[in-house]
Amino acid sequence: MDVERNVDLLVAGAGPAGMAVALVASLEGLDVLLCEKSDQVGGTGATSAGTLWIPGNSQSRAAGFDDAAERADAYLNALVGEGTRRELRDAFLQTGPAAIDYYCARTDVQFMPCGRHPDYRSNLPGAAVEGRAIIPLPFDGRLLGDDFRRVRPPIPEFLLLGGMMIGKADIAPLVGRYRSFANFVHSAKLIGRYLLDRLRYPRGTRLMMGNALVARLFYSLRRRAVPILFEAEIVDLLGDRDGVTGARLRVAGDEVVVHARKGVVLATGGFAHNKRFRDMFMAQPVAAHSMSFSGNSGDAIALGERIGAALTPRGRDSGLWTPASLTPRGDGTKGLYPHIILDRAKPGLIAVNAAGRRFVNEACSYHDFVLAMYDSPEPAIPAWLICDSVFIRRYGLGIVPPGHRDPGQFERNGYLSRAASLAGLAAMIGVDANQFEKTAARHNTFAETGADTDFGKGETELNRFNGDASHKPNPCIGRIATPPYYALAVWPADIAVSAGLETDADARVLTGEGRPIPGLFACGNDMASVMAGSYPGPGTTLGPALVFAYRAAMVAAHGAR
Ligand SMILES: Cc1cc2nc3c(=O)[nH]c(=O)nc-3n(C[C@H](O)[C@H](O)[C@H](O)COP(=O)(O)OP(=O)(O)OC[C@H]3O[C@@H](n4cnc5c(N)ncnc54)[C@H](O)[C@@H]3O)c2cc1C
Repeated sequence: MDVERNVDLLVAGAGPAGMAVALVASLEGLDVLLCEKSDQVGGTGATSAGTLWIPGNSQSRAAGFDDAAERADAYLNALVGEGTRRELRDAFLQTGPAAIDYYCARTDVQFMPCGRHPDYRSNLPGAAVEGRAIIPLPFDGRLLGDDFRRVRPPIPEFLLLGGMMIGKADIAPLVGRYRSFANFVHSAKLIGRYLLDRLRYPRGTRLMMGNALVARLFYSLRRRAVPILFEAEIVDLLGDRDGVTGARLRVAGDEVVVHARKGVVLATGGFAHNKRFRDMFMAQPVAAHSMSFSGNSGDAIALGERIGAALTPRGRDSGLWTPASLTPRGDGTKGLYPHIILDRAKPGLIAVNAAGRRFVNEACSYHDFVLAMYDSPEPAIPAWLICDSVFIRRYGLGIVPPGHRDPGQFERNGYLSRAASLAGLAAMIGVDANQFEKTAARHNTFAETGADTDFGKGETELNRFNGDASHKPNPCIGRIATPPYYALAVWPADIAVSAGLETDADARVLTGEGRPIPGLFACGNDMASVMAGSYPGPGTTLGPALVFAYRAAMVAAHGAR
């Protein structure tokens, strides 16, 4: 290994943001080096749903959906305020569709419209119900050959049969595999392909969602022969707040100095596993759980801080959240299951706090659910998801799949609590039994009328999208009345962070005085989010990650606009 290297652009971190910058910069003619701390690409992105929020994107328009950047701007005005991050927001909205078209036209990073996928505050002006989110096309991991092992796998909780990825559209056919011939054929094809894969690969090669996104970026980089150094960690910057000219890497114990003529891009995934930054930026009590990749330890943010870069002002809204349950894993450790869309909005589930009271519209977005846990008047960390036996059989709960014949198995392995009566369940989980029974009884009256006069469950497009359309009168509210009853504890867990290095609209890192530091860029979760801590819709972090990656690469290659 050379002790010194000269390149045009050094990119640190091979998650979606870093790989995207490296790819565009290479296409624009730069000599790029990508360094990655771990031995795999993908970071948190590999375990994500892979959705991108791109208002006015042309993939949705081509499919007949109507959206425009101006409407998204009105929505963000209502959600985060008119002046908030104006320059970045304008750049994001103006460049978003063109950036995605660029990836689609020039690389193997291909997208399709999500169609109907409501924004998370779908009752605000400018919110979209459809046509604003896109997802990567599934990817055939076999195209990567031996490099397939370099793609970080999804979390085990998202894999079937120990290694098979499925998308949302696969769930109904798999659950109802004996209900129709079409379902049976669909399921048989999925499982057949998976079994064949397992003869040669450590997991299934039909990649979906975030795994497809990172595999597509990686494949595109490989096809362009962009060099990637694995187990290569950025540990220092060359230069200071007046200009950065390269960085020091630690590569398998050796130090490598990289001189970078056009600069260094920090894309190391943010600070989720850095205690100092968590204490600094996150709500109190600081959440004990994170779904971010364990290697995201705030390295780049600390490097920027050291040379006088501006960080997001301290505030409470810097986690992007999901409620997560703790799952027992085969090796005795605990995993995390994010309660994103599958259970909370369905009819027949409530969430209660320690006082046995509801504190939230259970069908709100996963981010808003956790904000409500923090805002609850009585302790709601953990909060308890409560349902009955009819619900769990029909919809599942967390890692309990719908239709499971023996939910009691999940009681025996410690995942959930089960009791023959509501009072018994309250005693098991330590909530006020009297209040708990009243809460459930009141909720059951809402199931009859269809109107949740306490929290409005089922009133928004988002609620109904994740509910059960066949359930009347309200697709999100059903009786909790058939024992045994179940309770599952959920905790706040960040899936991304929104605080980070402050940048301009071209992702150039700023000093405390607001001056760009020549040669230093930040993208992805290293960059302070354009959404300023809010979570407008599906794809809130990956959308901006790929758009600002594109802008950073263009500026590095061609100079500031
Ligand atoms: C369950 C789940 C679902 C999600 N779904 C979505 C979704 O649908 N849409 C969306 O927008 N967001 C989603 N997210 C969030 C999204 O995955 C992250 O915001 C996104 O991956 C951040 O991208 P990144 O490139 O900044 O960081 P990462 O993807 O985390 O990649 C960072 C990389 O940097 C490397 N690194 C760290 N330190 C160093 C160092 N010192 N030197 C070199 N390399 C380093 C890491 O090893 C890692 O490979 C989801 C997250 C989770 C957990």
